[in-house]
Amino acid sequence: MNVDSLSYAKYPFLRDAAEHVKDHGIALDELLTHRAFQGARARGKARVIDALMHGIIQIRPMANEEDCLEEILSYPMARMYVSGVDDRFLTRRYALAEGVAMRERLEREDLDMVEEVAYQLDVAASQEGNLLRIHFTDYLRYTSRMRSKEWKLVNTEVKRGYVFLSQAKFARVLQQALQDRLESELPLPLNDDILNALGDDVRELKDSATVMRNQYKAEDFGTVSVENFPPCMKHFIGMAQAGENMPHSARFSLTAFLHHIGLSAEEILALFATSPDFDVSKTKYQVDHITGEISGTEYTPPECTTMKSYGICFEPDSLCNHPNGYVKHPLSYYRIKNRPLRRTSKGAPSPKSSKPAAPR
Ligand code: SF4
Repeated sequence: MNVDSLSYAKYPFLRDAAEHVKDHGIALDELLTHRAFQGARARGKARVIDALMHGIIQIRPMANEEDCLEEILSYPMARMYVSGVDDRFLTRRYALAEGVAMRERLEREDLDMVEEVAYQLDVAASQEGNLLRIHFTDYLRYTSRMRSKEWKLVNTEVKRGYVFLSQAKFARVLQQALQDRLESELPLPLNDDILNALGDDVRELKDSATVMRNQYKAEDFGTVSVENFPPCMKHFIGMAQAGENMPHSARFSLTAFLHHIGLSAEEILALFATSPDFDVSKTKYQVDHITGEISGTEYTPPECTTMKSYGICFEPDSLCNHPNGYVKHPLSYYRIKNRPLRRTSKGAPSPKSSKPAAPR
């Protein structure tokens, strides 16, 4: 397929985009220091700031060949900035932002372009009508961390070993492929000359990354004791902090749980913000909905039996499994655990005093 410079600008990670830059005969030291490339350097830095602040690389208008070349060059610049900062949080967030930007663009492309991007990302795919087919082993490789049911192989159309996907779902698979690739490639080894040239910008980005990370640090729940959380909720918090994709049911349960034990919407947001695919407005909307701010209904987490049927009752412990069945609800667990004076020395609740209150 013939790919033009606007497409390279939209997908600067393509193998052929690097060849396109080579064809212009631009040397690395020129890119790093020459006045002519000041715009590309600024745009590269803006890519990283976008990733930090918004979780997506913002689209900018490109009117001519110069704009396109600047955009293409901003990509290797951004990679060098991320490598210079060398902070895992930033690297993951940057990989995510490039992946999300690509996905959003691919959702609106014709299928030939989608197939070309897949090819250059080493994801073998072909068109079949208005669907794209991908071998099930590739599908599993890129979707194994997506936990919602729609991504499970049993819920997809599989024929003769191939999975058939809509354009939007295929674009999401490619997002993961790009993220994985960037996370494995970065940080790049940079020599002193490059680090010196990046100088102040790297220091500035490092400070911004630290500020963002600290802002989103979710270890401190104030007076709330995480130690006394039920195992399922601890598990969800671990997932959020590790940046794992959480199934919707788990996000819902955790949000409702944290709300009911007294955390503010901002504190709940801060917890989810440690996830690299954090989208502040989307998450705020979900949190406000579950906490009743916009829905008028304050949702409670599901009961343990429901959590089990959703497959999100993780690592139930001896209190969860107590033969007297004290714990029927994650909130009951937390209430029991928060009554230290009424507990027996064995750690089990005293039958007389610790009957769990009905969940709100
Ligand atoms: S039994 Fe209930 S409280 Fe315990 S881990 Fe399962 S869902 Fe959570």
